[in-house]
Amino acid sequence: MTFTLHGQAVSRGVAIGRAVLVASSRLDVAHYFIAPEQAQAEVARLRHARDTVAEEIRRLQHGLAHDEMEAHTELAALLEVHLMLLQDEHLHEGVKHWVLERHYNAEWALTAQLEQVAKQFDEMADPYLRERKADLEQLVERMLRVLQGVASPVPSPAPAEDGKPADPLVLVAHDLVPADMLHFKQGVFAGFVTDVGGKTSHTAIVARSLDIPAVVGARNASQLVQQDDWVIVDGDAGVLIVNPTPMVLAEYGYKQRQGVIERERLARIKNTPAVTLDGERIELLANIEQPEDTLPALSVGAVGVGLFRTEFLFMGRGGRLPDEDEQYDAYRRAVEGMHGLPVTIRTVDVGADKPLDHHRRDEHLNPALGLRAIRWSLAEPAMFLTQLRAILRAAAHGKVNVLIPMVAHLSEIRQVQAMLAKAREQLDRRGAVYGPVRVGAMIEVPAAALAVRLFVRHFDFLSIGTNDLIQYALAIDRVDESVAHLYDPLHPAVLRLVADTIAVCREAGKPVSVCGEMAGDATMTRLLLGLGLRSFSMHPTQILPVKQQVLRSDTRKLRAWAQNVIASDEPALLLAD
Ligand code: PEP
Ligand code: MG
Repeated sequence: MTFTLHGQAVSRGVAIGRAVLVASSRLDVAHYFIAPEQAQAEVARLRHARDTVAEEIRRLQHGLAHDEMEAHTELAALLEVHLMLLQDEHLHEGVKHWVLERHYNAEWALTAQLEQVAKQFDEMADPYLRERKADLEQLVERMLRVLQGVASPVPSPAPAEDGKPADPLVLVAHDLVPADMLHFKQGVFAGFVTDVGGKTSHTAIVARSLDIPAVVGARNASQLVQQDDWVIVDGDAGVLIVNPTPMVLAEYGYKQRQGVIERERLARIKNTPAVTLDGERIELLANIEQPEDTLPALSVGAVGVGLFRTEFLFMGRGGRLPDEDEQYDAYRRAVEGMHGLPVTIRTVDVGADKPLDHHRRDEHLNPALGLRAIRWSLAEPAMFLTQLRAILRAAAHGKVNVLIPMVAHLSEIRQVQAMLAKAREQLDRRGAVYGPVRVGAMIEVPAAALAVRLFVRHFDFLSIGTNDLIQYALAIDRVDESVAHLYDPLHPAVLRLVADTIAVCREAGKPVSVCGEMAGDATMTRLLLGLGLRSFSMHPTQILPVKQQVLRSDTRKLRAWAQNVIASDEPALLLAD
Protein backbone atom coordinates (compact mmCIF):
# COMPACT_ATOMS: atom_id res chain seq x y z
CA MET A 1 0.00 0.00 0.00
CA THR A 2 1.31 3.44 -0.93
CA PHE A 3 1.48 6.07 1.78
CA THR A 4 3.23 9.37 2.34
CA LEU A 5 4.98 10.78 5.41
CA HIS A 6 5.94 14.41 5.95
CA GLY A 7 8.99 15.75 7.72
CA GLN A 8 11.62 18.46 7.41
CA ALA A 9 13.38 18.85 4.08
CA VAL A 10 17.04 18.99 5.01
CA SER A 11 19.10 17.86 2.07
CA ARG A 12 18.04 18.45 -1.50
CA GLY A 13 17.31 16.03 -4.28
CA VAL A 14 15.36 12.85 -4.83
CA ALA A 15 16.45 9.37 -3.76
CA ILE A 16 14.64 6.21 -4.78
CA GLY A 17 15.66 2.95 -3.15
CA ARG A 18 14.95 0.09 -0.80
CA ALA A 19 14.52 0.87 2.88
CA VAL A 20 17.18 -0.29 5.32
CA LEU A 21 15.87 0.00 8.85
CA VAL A 22 18.22 0.85 11.67
CA ALA A 23 16.24 0.61 14.89
CA SER A 24 16.88 3.32 17.46
CA SER A 25 17.24 1.05 20.44
CA ARG A 26 20.01 -0.76 18.58
CA LEU A 27 21.99 2.26 17.56
CA ASP A 28 24.72 1.45 20.01
CA VAL A 29 25.96 -1.24 17.67
CA ALA A 30 28.03 -0.50 14.60
CA HIS A 31 26.28 -0.70 11.22
CA TYR A 32 28.40 -1.29 8.17
CA PHE A 33 28.70 -3.49 5.14
CA ILE A 34 31.29 -6.23 4.99
CA ALA A 35 33.01 -7.38 1.81
CA PRO A 36 31.23 -10.43 0.30
CA GLU A 37 34.30 -12.62 0.78
CA GLN A 38 34.21 -11.84 4.52
CA ALA A 39 30.63 -13.07 4.94
CA GLN A 40 31.58 -16.57 6.09
CA ALA A 41 33.93 -15.15 8.73
CA GLU A 42 31.10 -12.92 9.94
CA VAL A 43 28.75 -15.91 10.18
CA ALA A 44 31.45 -17.68 12.20
CA ARG A 45 31.53 -14.74 14.64
CA LEU A 46 27.79 -15.10 15.06
CA ARG A 47 28.06 -18.84 15.63
CA HIS A 48 30.76 -18.25 18.21
CA ALA A 49 28.56 -15.68 19.99
CA ARG A 50 25.59 -18.05 20.00
CA ASP A 51 27.67 -20.95 21.30
CA THR A 52 29.23 -18.81 24.02
CA VAL A 53 25.84 -17.62 25.28
CA ALA A 54 24.44 -21.17 25.11
CA GLU A 55 27.41 -22.40 27.11
CA GLU A 56 26.82 -19.71 29.75
CA ILE A 57 23.18 -20.78 30.06
CA ARG A 58 24.11 -24.44 30.35
CA ARG A 59 26.57 -23.63 33.09
CA LEU A 60 23.82 -21.80 34.98
CA GLN A 61 21.48 -24.72 34.46
CA HIS A 62 24.09 -27.06 35.80
CA GLY A 63 24.44 -24.98 38.96
CA LEU A 64 20.70 -25.18 39.56
CA ALA A 65 20.30 -28.85 38.66
CA HIS A 66 20.21 -30.22 42.19
CA ASP A 67 18.33 -27.35 43.77
CA GLU A 68 14.70 -28.03 44.63
CA MET A 69 13.79 -24.47 45.67
CA GLU A 70 10.66 -23.35 43.85
CA ALA A 71 12.24 -20.10 42.62
CA HIS A 72 15.11 -22.05 41.22
CA THR A 73 12.84 -24.53 39.49
CA GLU A 74 11.15 -21.61 37.78
CA LEU A 75 14.50 -20.16 36.80
CA ALA A 76 15.60 -23.49 35.38
CA ALA A 77 12.45 -23.59 33.24
CA LEU A 78 13.15 -20.09 32.01
CA LEU A 79 16.72 -20.99 31.12
CA GLU A 80 15.36 -23.90 29.12
CA VAL A 81 13.16 -21.47 27.20
CA HIS A 82 16.19 -19.24 26.60
CA LEU A 83 18.13 -22.14 25.20
CA MET A 84 15.26 -23.00 22.87
CA LEU A 85 14.97 -19.43 21.68
CA LEU A 86 18.69 -19.23 21.16
CA GLN A 87 18.73 -22.35 19.06
CA ASP A 88 15.69 -21.41 17.03
CA GLU A 89 16.60 -21.94 13.40
CA HIS A 90 14.25 -19.21 12.22
CA LEU A 91 16.34 -16.66 14.11
CA HIS A 92 19.63 -17.98 12.82
CA GLU A 93 18.61 -18.47 9.24
CA GLY A 94 17.29 -14.90 9.28
CA VAL A 95 20.50 -13.49 10.72
CA LYS A 96 22.58 -15.45 8.22
CA HIS A 97 20.45 -14.11 5.41
CA TRP A 98 21.32 -10.49 6.33
CA VAL A 99 25.02 -11.37 6.39
CA LEU A 100 25.21 -13.57 3.30
CA GLU A 101 22.72 -11.78 1.05
CA ARG A 102 23.00 -8.20 2.23
CA HIS A 103 26.50 -8.17 3.67
CA TYR A 104 25.48 -6.56 6.94
CA ASN A 105 28.03 -6.87 9.75
CA ALA A 106 27.12 -9.44 12.43
CA GLU A 107 25.78 -6.93 14.98
CA TRP A 108 23.59 -5.21 12.43
CA ALA A 109 22.30 -8.54 11.06
CA LEU A 110 21.42 -9.68 14.56
CA THR A 111 19.49 -6.54 15.46
CA ALA A 112 17.78 -6.42 12.04
CA GLN A 113 16.49 -9.96 12.56
CA LEU A 114 15.53 -9.23 16.16
CA GLU A 115 13.44 -6.34 14.87
CA GLN A 116 11.54 -8.65 12.51
CA VAL A 117 11.02 -11.43 15.01
CA ALA A 118 9.99 -8.94 17.70
CA LYS A 119 7.20 -7.70 15.43
CA GLN A 120 5.92 -11.28 15.08
CA PHE A 121 5.93 -11.68 18.86
CA ASP A 122 3.95 -8.43 19.21
CA GLU A 123 1.24 -9.86 16.97
CA MET A 124 0.81 -13.08 18.98
CA ALA A 125 -2.54 -13.53 20.70
CA ASP A 126 -1.16 -15.60 23.58
CA PRO A 127 0.14 -13.22 26.29
CA TYR A 128 2.70 -15.82 27.47
CA LEU A 129 4.23 -16.05 24.02
CA ARG A 130 4.09 -12.25 23.58
CA GLU A 131 6.19 -11.86 26.69
CA ARG A 132 8.92 -14.06 25.26
CA LYS A 133 9.97 -11.06 23.19
CA ALA A 134 11.75 -9.64 26.23
CA ASP A 135 13.66 -12.92 26.63
CA LEU A 136 14.75 -12.83 23.05
CA GLU A 137 15.92 -9.24 23.44
CA GLN A 138 17.99 -10.24 26.44
CA LEU A 139 19.61 -13.05 24.50
CA VAL A 140 20.45 -10.77 21.62
CA GLU A 141 21.98 -8.28 24.05
CA ARG A 142 24.16 -11.07 25.43
CA MET A 143 25.25 -12.13 21.97
CA LEU A 144 26.06 -8.50 21.15
CA ARG A 145 28.25 -8.34 24.21
CA VAL A 146 30.16 -11.42 23.09
CA LEU A 147 30.50 -9.98 19.58
CA GLN A 148 31.98 -6.81 21.02
CA GLY A 149 34.95 -8.81 22.23
CA VAL A 150 35.55 -10.44 18.85
CA ALA A 151 36.80 -8.22 16.07
CA SER A 152 34.91 -8.01 12.80
CA PRO A 153 36.43 -7.95 9.32
CA VAL A 154 37.21 -4.53 7.84
CA PRO A 155 34.10 -2.62 6.67
CA SER A 156 33.52 -2.69 2.94
CA PRO A 157 32.95 0.56 1.07
CA ALA A 158 29.80 -0.61 -0.70
CA PRO A 159 27.57 -3.63 -1.01
CA ALA A 160 28.26 -5.59 -4.17
CA GLU A 161 26.52 -8.68 -5.42
CA ASP A 162 28.42 -10.69 -8.00
CA GLY A 163 29.37 -7.54 -9.83
CA LYS A 164 25.70 -6.61 -10.34
CA PRO A 165 24.88 -3.06 -9.26
CA ALA A 166 22.85 -3.41 -6.07
CA ASP A 167 19.54 -1.57 -5.59
CA PRO A 168 20.05 1.88 -4.10
CA LEU A 169 19.46 1.87 -0.34
CA VAL A 170 17.67 4.42 1.83
CA LEU A 171 18.47 4.45 5.53
CA VAL A 172 15.43 4.79 7.80
CA ALA A 173 16.08 5.27 11.53
CA HIS A 174 14.43 6.73 14.57
CA ASP A 175 17.47 8.89 15.19
CA LEU A 176 21.10 9.03 14.18
CA VAL A 177 23.80 10.82 16.09
CA PRO A 178 26.15 12.88 13.89
CA ALA A 179 29.00 10.43 14.47
CA ASP A 180 26.83 7.60 13.08
CA MET A 181 26.20 9.67 9.99
CA LEU A 182 29.92 9.97 9.40
CA HIS A 183 30.17 6.18 9.17
CA PHE A 184 27.88 6.45 6.18
CA LYS A 185 30.27 8.78 4.38
CA GLN A 186 31.37 5.68 2.49
CA GLY A 187 28.59 6.50 0.04
CA VAL A 188 26.52 3.43 0.76
CA PHE A 189 23.15 5.12 1.12
CA ALA A 190 21.21 7.04 -1.51
CA GLY A 191 18.96 8.76 1.04
CA PHE A 192 18.26 9.23 4.75
CA VAL A 193 15.08 9.44 6.79
CA THR A 194 14.82 9.89 10.54
CA ASP A 195 11.82 10.12 12.85
CA VAL A 196 13.28 12.98 14.87
CA GLY A 197 15.42 16.03 14.30
CA GLY A 198 15.15 19.56 12.97
CA LYS A 199 16.59 21.31 9.93
CA THR A 200 19.77 22.45 11.62
CA SER A 201 20.33 19.46 13.88
CA HIS A 202 23.87 18.24 13.38
CA THR A 203 22.62 15.02 11.87
CA ALA A 204 20.83 17.05 9.20
CA ILE A 205 23.96 19.15 8.70
CA VAL A 206 26.05 16.05 8.06
CA ALA A 207 23.40 14.69 5.64
CA ARG A 208 23.66 17.96 3.73
CA SER A 209 27.42 17.75 3.67
CA LEU A 210 27.12 14.23 2.22
CA ASP A 211 24.90 15.71 -0.47
CA ILE A 212 22.35 12.96 -0.03
CA PRO A 213 18.58 13.64 -0.13
CA ALA A 214 17.31 13.53 3.44
CA VAL A 215 14.16 14.08 5.45
CA VAL A 216 14.27 14.37 9.24
CA GLY A 217 11.42 14.70 11.73
CA ALA A 218 9.30 12.20 9.79
CA ARG A 219 7.72 11.18 13.13
CA ASN A 220 7.14 7.39 13.13
CA ALA A 221 8.66 6.53 9.77
CA SER A 222 10.90 3.88 11.32
CA GLN A 223 7.83 2.05 12.58
CA LEU A 224 5.66 2.40 9.50
CA VAL A 225 8.24 1.58 6.88
CA GLN A 226 9.17 -2.09 6.51
CA GLN A 227 12.59 -3.42 5.72
CA ASP A 228 13.03 -3.56 1.93
CA ASP A 229 10.02 -1.38 1.10
CA TRP A 230 10.63 0.77 -1.95
CA VAL A 231 10.70 4.41 -0.87
CA ILE A 232 11.14 7.81 -2.45
CA VAL A 233 12.88 10.50 -0.40
CA ASP A 234 11.99 13.95 -1.67
CA GLY A 235 14.61 16.09 0.04
CA ASP A 236 13.21 19.29 -1.48
CA ALA A 237 9.67 18.90 -0.15
CA GLY A 238 10.50 16.93 3.02
CA VAL A 239 8.33 14.01 1.91
CA LEU A 240 8.77 10.26 2.08
CA ILE A 241 6.65 8.13 -0.25
CA VAL A 242 6.47 4.46 0.70
CA ASN A 243 5.67 1.74 -1.86
CA PRO A 244 5.03 4.23 -4.68
CA THR A 245 2.84 3.29 -7.65
CA PRO A 246 4.58 2.97 -11.04
CA MET A 247 3.15 6.37 -12.06
CA VAL A 248 4.60 8.14 -8.99
CA LEU A 249 7.91 6.34 -9.50
CA ALA A 250 8.08 7.54 -13.10
CA GLU A 251 7.32 11.12 -12.03
CA TYR A 252 10.07 11.10 -9.41
CA GLY A 253 12.48 9.40 -11.77
CA TYR A 254 11.95 12.40 -14.07
CA LYS A 255 12.51 14.82 -11.17
CA GLN A 256 15.70 12.99 -10.26
CA ARG A 257 17.03 13.35 -13.81
CA GLN A 258 16.11 17.05 -13.82
CA GLY A 259 18.20 17.44 -10.64
CA VAL A 260 21.20 15.89 -12.35
CA ILE A 261 20.80 18.24 -15.34
CA GLU A 262 20.54 21.24 -13.00
CA ARG A 263 23.76 20.22 -11.23
CA GLU A 264 25.57 19.83 -14.50
CA ARG A 265 24.42 23.29 -15.53
CA LEU A 266 25.63 24.78 -12.23
CA ALA A 267 29.01 23.07 -12.58
CA ARG A 268 29.74 25.45 -15.46
CA ILE A 269 30.21 28.37 -13.04
CA LYS A 270 32.67 26.43 -10.89
CA ASN A 271 35.66 28.46 -12.02
CA THR A 272 33.84 31.78 -12.44
CA PRO A 273 34.99 34.27 -9.77
CA ALA A 274 32.18 35.12 -7.32
CA VAL A 275 31.77 38.79 -8.23
CA THR A 276 28.47 40.67 -8.21
CA LEU A 277 27.17 42.72 -11.15
CA ASP A 278 28.55 45.86 -9.48
CA GLY A 279 32.00 44.33 -9.05
CA GLU A 280 31.91 43.30 -5.37
CA ARG A 281 34.12 40.27 -4.76
CA ILE A 282 32.37 37.72 -2.53
CA GLU A 283 34.26 35.10 -0.56
CA LEU A 284 32.60 31.65 -0.77
CA LEU A 285 34.15 29.28 1.76
CA ALA A 286 33.48 25.67 2.71
CA ASN A 287 32.30 24.07 5.94
CA ILE A 288 34.03 20.73 6.50
CA GLU A 289 33.93 17.95 9.07
CA GLN A 290 37.00 15.94 8.06
CA PRO A 291 40.30 16.73 6.30
CA GLU A 292 39.13 14.68 3.29
CA ASP A 293 36.28 17.16 2.75
CA THR A 294 38.78 19.65 1.32
CA LEU A 295 38.57 17.70 -1.94
CA PRO A 296 34.85 18.37 -2.61
CA ALA A 297 35.42 21.93 -1.34
CA LEU A 298 38.08 22.61 -3.98
CA SER A 299 36.09 20.84 -6.66
CA VAL A 300 33.35 23.48 -6.44
CA GLY A 301 35.80 26.38 -6.27
CA ALA A 302 35.75 27.19 -2.53
CA VAL A 303 38.39 29.84 -1.77
CA GLY A 304 39.11 28.47 1.68
CA VAL A 305 37.57 26.65 4.63
CA GLY A 306 35.41 28.95 6.75
CA LEU A 307 34.52 26.33 9.33
CA PHE A 308 36.26 23.06 10.16
CA ARG A 309 34.02 21.39 12.76
CA THR A 310 36.81 19.62 14.63
CA GLU A 311 34.44 17.91 17.08
CA PHE A 312 33.98 15.16 14.50
CA LEU A 313 37.53 14.05 15.32
CA PHE A 314 36.48 13.70 18.94
CA MET A 315 33.10 11.99 18.60
CA GLY A 316 32.14 8.33 18.28
CA ARG A 317 35.37 7.03 19.88
CA GLY A 318 33.84 5.92 23.15
CA GLY A 319 35.04 9.10 24.87
CA ARG A 320 38.75 8.53 24.04
CA LEU A 321 40.19 11.87 22.94
CA PRO A 322 42.56 12.28 19.99
CA ASP A 323 46.08 13.17 21.16
CA GLU A 324 48.12 16.13 19.93
CA ASP A 325 49.84 14.28 17.09
CA GLU A 326 46.62 12.77 15.79
CA GLN A 327 44.98 16.19 15.78
CA TYR A 328 48.02 17.88 14.26
CA ASP A 329 47.98 15.30 11.49
CA ALA A 330 44.28 15.95 10.74
CA TYR A 331 44.66 19.76 10.76
CA ARG A 332 47.84 19.63 8.67
CA ARG A 333 46.09 17.44 6.11
CA ALA A 334 43.23 19.94 5.88
CA VAL A 335 45.68 22.84 5.52
CA GLU A 336 47.76 21.06 2.88
CA GLY A 337 44.57 19.89 1.17
CA MET A 338 43.60 23.51 0.56
CA HIS A 339 46.93 24.30 -1.17
CA GLY A 340 47.64 27.65 0.43
CA LEU A 341 44.01 28.80 0.82
CA PRO A 342 43.02 29.75 4.38
CA VAL A 343 41.55 27.18 6.77
CA THR A 344 39.48 28.25 9.75
CA ILE A 345 39.72 25.59 12.43
CA ARG A 346 37.01 25.80 15.06
CA THR A 347 37.98 24.51 18.49
CA VAL A 348 35.96 21.54 19.64
CA ASP A 349 32.22 22.11 19.98
CA VAL A 350 30.84 19.02 21.68
CA GLY A 351 27.75 18.89 23.85
CA ALA A 352 24.00 19.20 23.20
CA ASP A 353 23.23 17.20 20.03
CA LYS A 354 26.92 16.36 19.52
CA PRO A 355 27.70 14.06 22.46
CA LEU A 356 31.32 12.97 22.80
CA ASP A 357 30.24 9.42 23.27
CA HIS A 358 26.80 8.52 22.04
CA HIS A 359 26.62 5.62 24.44
CA ARG A 360 26.45 8.31 27.09
CA ARG A 361 24.05 10.99 25.93
CA ASP A 362 24.03 14.22 27.91
CA GLU A 363 21.58 13.61 30.74
CA HIS A 364 21.30 17.25 31.79
CA LEU A 365 17.91 18.86 31.57
CA ASN A 366 19.01 21.54 29.09
CA PRO A 367 22.21 20.30 27.43
CA ALA A 368 22.15 23.09 24.82
CA LEU A 369 22.48 25.54 27.70
CA GLY A 370 25.07 23.48 29.50
CA LEU A 371 28.73 22.62 29.29
CA ARG A 372 29.18 22.71 25.52
CA ALA A 373 31.70 24.26 23.11
CA ILE A 374 34.14 26.76 24.69
CA ARG A 375 32.61 26.14 28.12
CA TRP A 376 33.65 22.50 27.96
CA SER A 377 37.08 23.41 26.55
CA LEU A 378 37.74 25.80 29.43
CA ALA A 379 36.57 23.19 31.92
CA GLU A 380 39.08 20.71 30.43
CA PRO A 381 42.27 22.82 30.15
CA ALA A 382 44.59 19.90 29.33
CA MET A 383 42.34 18.85 26.43
CA PHE A 384 42.03 22.45 25.22
CA LEU A 385 45.77 23.11 25.36
CA THR A 386 46.39 19.91 23.42
CA GLN A 387 44.04 21.08 20.69
CA LEU A 388 45.53 24.59 20.59
CA ARG A 389 49.07 23.21 20.29
CA ALA A 390 48.00 20.91 17.45
CA ILE A 391 46.36 23.83 15.60
CA LEU A 392 49.38 26.12 16.12
CA ARG A 393 51.69 23.42 14.75
CA ALA A 394 49.44 22.91 11.71
CA ALA A 395 49.65 26.67 11.12
CA ALA A 396 53.30 26.18 10.12
CA HIS A 397 51.98 24.54 6.92
CA GLY A 398 49.65 27.28 5.65
CA LYS A 399 47.15 30.01 6.52
CA VAL A 400 45.24 29.03 9.64
CA ASN A 401 42.56 30.86 11.60
CA VAL A 402 41.33 29.64 14.98
CA LEU A 403 37.61 30.04 15.65
CA ILE A 404 36.14 29.89 19.16
CA PRO A 405 32.55 28.61 19.47
CA MET A 406 29.83 29.96 21.80
CA VAL A 407 31.82 32.70 23.52
CA ALA A 408 29.56 35.05 25.45
CA HIS A 409 31.59 36.51 28.33
CA LEU A 410 34.60 38.79 28.62
CA SER A 411 36.06 36.32 31.12
CA GLU A 412 35.94 33.60 28.44
CA ILE A 413 37.71 35.87 25.96
CA ARG A 414 40.49 36.50 28.50
CA GLN A 415 40.82 32.81 29.32
CA VAL A 416 41.06 31.89 25.63
CA GLN A 417 43.82 34.46 25.15
CA ALA A 418 45.69 33.15 28.19
CA MET A 419 45.36 29.55 26.96
CA LEU A 420 46.70 30.47 23.54
CA ALA A 421 49.69 32.19 25.15
CA LYS A 422 50.28 29.12 27.31
CA ALA A 423 50.05 26.74 24.35
CA ARG A 424 52.70 28.81 22.50
CA GLU A 425 54.90 28.82 25.59
CA GLN A 426 54.64 25.01 25.86
CA LEU A 427 55.60 24.64 22.20
CA ASP A 428 58.52 27.06 22.66
CA ARG A 429 59.79 25.04 25.57
CA ARG A 430 59.73 21.91 23.40
CA GLY A 431 61.37 23.75 20.53
CA ALA A 432 58.42 22.76 18.32
CA VAL A 433 57.73 24.55 15.05
CA TYR A 434 54.45 26.47 14.83
CA GLY A 435 52.91 29.26 12.79
CA PRO A 436 50.92 32.46 13.30
CA VAL A 437 47.12 32.30 13.57
CA ARG A 438 44.33 34.86 13.42
CA VAL A 439 41.84 34.32 16.23
CA GLY A 440 38.11 34.75 15.71
CA ALA A 441 34.88 34.19 17.63
CA MET A 442 31.59 32.67 16.64
CA ILE A 443 28.68 35.00 17.21
CA GLU A 444 25.98 32.48 18.01
CA VAL A 445 24.75 33.42 21.46
CA PRO A 446 22.34 36.40 21.36
CA ALA A 447 24.31 38.07 24.18
CA ALA A 448 27.41 38.05 21.98
CA ALA A 449 25.46 39.53 19.06
CA LEU A 450 24.11 42.28 21.30
CA ALA A 451 27.55 42.99 22.77
CA VAL A 452 29.33 42.56 19.45
CA ARG A 453 31.46 45.71 19.96
CA LEU A 454 33.28 43.91 22.74
CA PHE A 455 34.08 40.98 20.43
CA VAL A 456 35.19 43.26 17.62
CA ARG A 457 37.81 44.74 19.95
CA HIS A 458 39.25 41.43 21.09
CA PHE A 459 39.19 39.24 17.97
CA ASP A 460 40.71 39.39 14.49
CA PHE A 461 37.48 38.30 12.81
CA LEU A 462 33.95 37.15 13.63
CA SER A 463 31.77 34.41 12.18
CA ILE A 464 28.02 34.35 12.72
CA GLY A 465 26.66 30.93 13.66
CA THR A 466 23.05 31.38 12.64
CA ASN A 467 22.04 27.84 13.63
CA ASP A 468 22.61 28.44 17.30
CA LEU A 469 21.80 32.14 17.13
CA ILE A 470 18.28 31.24 15.97
CA GLN A 471 17.97 28.43 18.52
CA TYR A 472 18.93 30.68 21.42
CA ALA A 473 17.18 33.87 20.24
CA LEU A 474 13.86 32.12 19.64
CA ALA A 475 14.17 29.53 22.44
CA ILE A 476 13.62 26.74 19.91
CA ASP A 477 15.59 23.53 20.30
CA ARG A 478 17.14 23.02 16.87
CA VAL A 479 16.83 19.24 17.14
CA ASP A 480 13.23 19.09 18.32
CA GLU A 481 10.91 18.37 15.39
CA SER A 482 7.82 19.25 17.46
CA VAL A 483 8.81 22.95 17.46
CA ALA A 484 10.58 22.90 14.08
CA HIS A 485 7.82 25.04 12.53
CA LEU A 486 8.85 27.87 14.88
CA TYR A 487 12.54 27.71 13.98
CA ASP A 488 12.45 30.78 11.76
CA PRO A 489 15.60 32.29 10.21
CA LEU A 490 13.42 35.17 9.01
CA HIS A 491 12.12 36.18 12.42
CA PRO A 492 12.65 39.96 12.69
CA ALA A 493 14.66 39.48 15.92
CA VAL A 494 17.05 37.07 14.23
CA LEU A 495 17.51 39.33 11.22
CA ARG A 496 18.15 42.28 13.53
CA LEU A 497 20.91 40.40 15.37
CA VAL A 498 22.53 39.30 12.10
CA ALA A 499 22.24 42.74 10.48
CA ASP A 500 23.68 44.59 13.49
CA THR A 501 26.60 42.19 13.80
CA ILE A 502 27.51 42.68 10.14
CA ALA A 503 27.09 46.47 10.42
CA VAL A 504 29.29 46.79 13.52
CA CYS A 505 32.04 44.67 11.96
CA ARG A 506 31.99 46.68 8.74
CA GLU A 507 32.15 49.93 10.69
CA ALA A 508 35.15 48.61 12.63
CA GLY A 509 36.80 47.20 9.52
CA LYS A 510 36.77 43.67 11.00
CA PRO A 511 36.16 40.70 8.67
CA VAL A 512 32.84 38.98 9.31
CA SER A 513 31.26 35.94 7.74
CA VAL A 514 28.22 33.72 8.26
CA CYS A 515 28.97 30.01 8.70
CA GLY A 516 25.56 28.75 9.85
CA GLU A 517 23.09 27.14 7.46
CA MET A 518 21.75 30.57 6.48
CA ALA A 519 24.93 31.15 4.44
CA GLY A 520 24.19 28.15 2.22
CA ASP A 521 20.53 28.93 1.68
CA ALA A 522 20.40 30.48 -1.80
CA THR A 523 17.07 32.17 -0.98
CA MET A 524 18.92 34.22 1.67
CA THR A 525 21.92 35.25 -0.45
CA ARG A 526 20.49 38.54 -1.77
CA LEU A 527 19.37 39.61 1.69
CA LEU A 528 22.78 38.90 3.26
CA LEU A 529 24.53 40.72 0.40
CA GLY A 530 22.17 43.66 0.93
CA LEU A 531 23.08 43.71 4.62
CA GLY A 532 26.75 44.05 3.66
CA LEU A 533 27.96 40.47 4.05
CA ARG A 534 30.88 39.62 1.77
CA SER A 535 31.99 36.26 3.18
CA PHE A 536 29.82 33.12 3.28
CA SER A 537 30.80 29.66 4.54
CA MET A 538 28.69 26.61 3.70
CA HIS A 539 28.70 22.96 2.63
CA PRO A 540 30.56 22.50 -0.61
CA THR A 541 27.31 21.32 -2.23
CA GLN A 542 25.71 24.72 -1.62
CA ILE A 543 28.50 26.85 -3.05
CA LEU A 544 27.40 26.80 -6.69
CA PRO A 545 23.70 27.64 -6.09
CA VAL A 546 24.82 30.54 -3.85
CA LYS A 547 27.39 31.66 -6.41
CA GLN A 548 24.67 31.74 -9.05
CA GLN A 549 22.75 34.22 -6.86
CA VAL A 550 25.91 36.29 -6.31
CA LEU A 551 26.56 36.55 -10.06
CA ARG A 552 23.01 37.87 -10.60
CA SER A 553 23.07 40.43 -7.77
CA ASP A 554 23.78 44.15 -7.69
CA THR A 555 24.60 45.06 -4.09
CA ARG A 556 23.87 48.78 -4.69
CA LYS A 557 20.26 47.90 -5.45
CA LEU A 558 19.98 45.41 -2.62
CA ARG A 559 21.04 47.76 0.20
CA ALA A 560 17.81 49.75 0.63
CA TRP A 561 15.66 46.69 -0.09
CA ALA A 562 17.46 44.68 2.63
CA GLN A 563 16.80 47.44 5.18
CA ASN A 564 13.10 47.30 4.27
CA VAL A 565 13.06 43.54 4.68
CA ILE A 566 14.57 43.60 8.16
CA ALA A 567 12.31 46.47 9.26
CA SER A 568 9.23 44.61 8.11
CA ASP A 569 6.87 42.67 10.41
CA GLU A 570 6.80 39.89 7.85
CA PRO A 571 10.21 39.73 6.19
CA ALA A 572 9.34 36.45 4.44
CA LEU A 573 6.76 38.25 2.26
CA LEU A 574 9.27 40.88 1.08
CA LEU A 575 11.99 38.31 0.54
CA ALA A 576 9.80 36.46 -1.92
CA ASP A 577 9.51 39.62 -4.12
C1 PEP B 1 26.05 27.55 14.06
O1 PEP B 1 25.64 27.41 15.20
O2 PEP B 1 25.48 28.26 13.20
C2 PEP B 1 27.27 26.85 13.63
C3 PEP B 1 27.82 27.08 12.46
O3 PEP B 1 27.79 25.92 14.46
P1 PEP B 1 27.14 24.46 14.69
O4 PEP B 1 26.05 24.28 13.66
O5 PEP B 1 28.22 23.47 14.54
O6 PEP B 1 26.60 24.56 16.08
MG1 MG C 1 26.89 26.56 16.71
